[in-house]
Amino acid sequence: MRFPLAPTAKIARHIVTNKLKGNRKFAMVLQLEPLHTCNLTCTGCGRIREYSTSLKDLVPLEQCLAAAAECEAPMISICGGEPLIYPKIEELVAGLHAQGRMIYICTNGVFMRKKMREYMAAHFSPEMDGKLRQLVSSKLVTEKEAEAIRNADEAARKKVTIRPSQWHYWNVHVDGLEFTHDLIVEREGVFKECVAAIQMAKVLGYQVATNTTVYKETDVAELEQMFKFLSSLGVDGHTISPGYDYDAAKKDMVKRLGKDPTDFFLTRDLTRQKFKDIERWGEMFTIFGTPGYLEFLAGKRELACSAWAVPTYNVRGWKAPCYVMTETHYPTYQEMLAKVNWDKFGVDEKGCGRDARCENCMMHSGFEPTAALSSGLRDTWVNFRYNFGSRPAPYPTSDTLTQAAYNGATIGKGHLAEAKAAVNREFSGAKSAFARNGNDIPHDAGAGHDHDHDHGASGGGCSTGPANDQLADLKAKIAAAKKIEVKTD
Ligand code: SF4
Repeated sequence: MRFPLAPTAKIARHIVTNKLKGNRKFAMVLQLEPLHTCNLTCTGCGRIREYSTSLKDLVPLEQCLAAAAECEAPMISICGGEPLIYPKIEELVAGLHAQGRMIYICTNGVFMRKKMREYMAAHFSPEMDGKLRQLVSSKLVTEKEAEAIRNADEAARKKVTIRPSQWHYWNVHVDGLEFTHDLIVEREGVFKECVAAIQMAKVLGYQVATNTTVYKETDVAELEQMFKFLSSLGVDGHTISPGYDYDAAKKDMVKRLGKDPTDFFLTRDLTRQKFKDIERWGEMFTIFGTPGYLEFLAGKRELACSAWAVPTYNVRGWKAPCYVMTETHYPTYQEMLAKVNWDKFGVDEKGCGRDARCENCMMHSGFEPTAALSSGLRDTWVNFRYNFGSRPAPYPTSDTLTQAAYNGATIGKGHLAEAKAAVNREFSGAKSAFARNGNDIPHDAGAGHDHDHDHGASGGGCSTGPANDQLADLKAKIAAAKKIEVKTD
């Protein structure tokens, strides 16, 4: 099976029960944002920009749990902000487990190893020592950290921690291989930390998923390479979604990075070009998504938007009408369901936007539930076969694959290092932020690689602006890098 049986059965029961009750609109996944604070400033992130005036606010634990109980969604995606910064994240996960929900902890990965060390300290026993030694020999835990785990004090042993469970996934944000990912999160070293966290999680028996956002400059060949690498690490599944051009993210992009948002975000046509291989990837890798949504992304069908099925709850309440667009916030999910004129938003079955802001949206939060909730005979059968069919085997590990993954800071090709070097050379030869020329992925790494990727939209160096724009971009990134250092604990 692609997904664990018990959670799958619970989700199926939720759908059937609501349909039998005649409920036309109900929640499938709650996007729970207990805070918007983040330790990173990813390019394209709408949250830290839209909620910039409430970054220090938190949703109290009880309110988070009440929101989950009110909307009854069987799946909770804890996002943000960086949820591992939320002071009661362990209690939140435990409380949602107690409610019987499937949980995705969406994280940038930087604090994951710290959280897993805390779990080991709280539950350390001689049986765990073998795994600890394995982690030390793989350099995923230092000798000093291992000793701290073995000799944990009373407080550490009593701490509520996030334990491995079939009812939750670490859902790690990875937008590309090392060069690209570090560039998008605007910090070198983050990709390496994510990989270390994934490796440690797999040793300890956690379920791990990854989530990837695709932008206009994303190289499709690189994505396939990334999935191969992640699969070889034993990652259990992947979500992938086209980027949405949040107003706040667009403004930030113009002001801070001097970039044109139209160079970054996807239109519907471009999304379909980027995702033309998605169904093949669904066969090769454990892509989390219904076949209907994958067909939609590949341009083989239209879907209407069901934003009500993936509601967002945050410091201001229930965000309406959807995860990406904000008109207002409501105090309860039921009030949001009743008061939003859903016919005003989304797209019709022909793909025409009912609201201009919906025109280019193909986000999974709007369209995935439409495919999942379809009661058409074909969709039901195809969904059943996809979910209950066998899971794609992990991609074989190889040195070539690993070398291809670490194509950035590890080999001295970090974008910030390069930018600094360019500054020192009076900017001569500086590379644009997304220039593929600076990201020499050996496209033949890994067996069976398909070269049929989209050079038309992204390849061969995507520098679109004049040299001065590139320089402003690089200067902004250097300034951002000086402000914050990567911290792993
Ligand atoms: S189409 Fe996209 S932007 Fe429009 S309501 Fe649906 S999810 Fe929101």
